[in-house]
Amino acid sequence: MPTQSYAPPAADYAFLYRDAFGRDIVAGATGGEMTAEDAAEILAGAGDFAAEVLAPLDRPGDQIGARLENGQVRLPAGFAEAYQAFIESGWVTAVAPASAGGDDLPASVQAGLGEIWNGANAAFALCWMLSAGAIHALDAVASEELRETYLTKLVSGEWTGTMNLTEPDAGTDLGAIRTFATPREDGTWAIRGQKIFITWGDHDVAENIVHLVLARTPDAPAGSRGLSLFVVPRTLVAADGSLGERNAVETVAIEHKLGIHASPTCVLSYEDATGYLVGPLHGGLSAMFVMMNSARVGMGHQATGIAERAYQAAAAYAADRRQGG
Ligand SMILES: Cc1cc2nc3c(=O)[nH]c(=O)nc-3n(C[C@H](O)[C@H](O)[C@H](O)COP(=O)(O)OP(=O)(O)OC[C@H]3O[C@@H](n4cnc5c(N)ncnc54)[C@H](O)[C@@H]3O)c2cc1C
Repeated sequence: MPTQSYAPPAADYAFLYRDAFGRDIVAGATGGEMTAEDAAEILAGAGDFAAEVLAPLDRPGDQIGARLENGQVRLPAGFAEAYQAFIESGWVTAVAPASAGGDDLPASVQAGLGEIWNGANAAFALCWMLSAGAIHALDAVASEELRETYLTKLVSGEWTGTMNLTEPDAGTDLGAIRTFATPREDGTWAIRGQKIFITWGDHDVAENIVHLVLARTPDAPAGSRGLSLFVVPRTLVAADGSLGERNAVETVAIEHKLGIHASPTCVLSYEDATGYLVGPLHGGLSAMFVMMNSARVGMGHQATGIAERAYQAAAAYAADRRQGG
């Protein structure tokens, strides 16, 4: 039988950092502040966490899957505890930029982390990936007030982030987005529309979710140049930072997928939900591109992580299988 165990390739990365390019690429990227040895130590710690905590949840998580119960998504047993341990170990803060209060690990080390999380448990890793993207987008464009309220909670991992582009009639063609944002007198916006395929769009592993939503505003130019970006929290946040009422964001369904059933990819309905403009009006797409580019790199990490995991399973099976005797 193929093995379900996972051996994180931390030593391979240590070799890459130190020797593969004929120089220490971590030291080169950090002006000597971090060395290949430091990076190898970080990845060894990540590897232990991945093998002990995340990998054992992978198969049962996929078999059970995320479930939608009375409008609330529930993750398989063990995911909430794993997520708490994950953020307490600082793995979200590790990849946030220094300007947002993060550890700002160099891209080569983030690539190693991404491969390891994905190899151990791709469904879990998607949460990390989307939060990292939201952190980078807010860090690039958000006002001081939004940074204080939302970015700090994302960087600590207490809240998670999502990316809301896709709609039933707007996939590749984002100019077709119809979700609408209407200004209110108090400076907030009423967000109305449906988004589909929203990764980690709802869950029960953290106390709030920060949705970054592309929407069209009144009298906006047609196409993608008329889109603006909004923060729409799942639960509204009071002026003192405490959590208040649920915002008008409903989880309609969980999308069907292959191999990442524990990743809650949601259909979300915004029913005049309260949103806050991020960055300039009609500047939504360029702000969202910060998050999309982060997600694109993250999908590359998913590919290398799954390839490594598949290779390990295939090699173990080939070595174990008796034939011709
Ligand atoms: C597991 C999963 C998670 C996802 N998570 C998120 C998420 O978190 N947030 C989010 O917003 N979206 C998410 N998505 C949606 C994803 O971004 C879309 O699937 C993607 O944008 C493509 O849109 P579509 O599926 O409607 O395909 P379509 O736009 O219908 O495209 C189908 C095919 O036609 C091609 N095509 C489309 N238009 C043209 C054209 N003009 N010329 C030539 N070829 C064209 C495309 O390249 C593609 O090959 C997720 C999807 C999946 C499967």
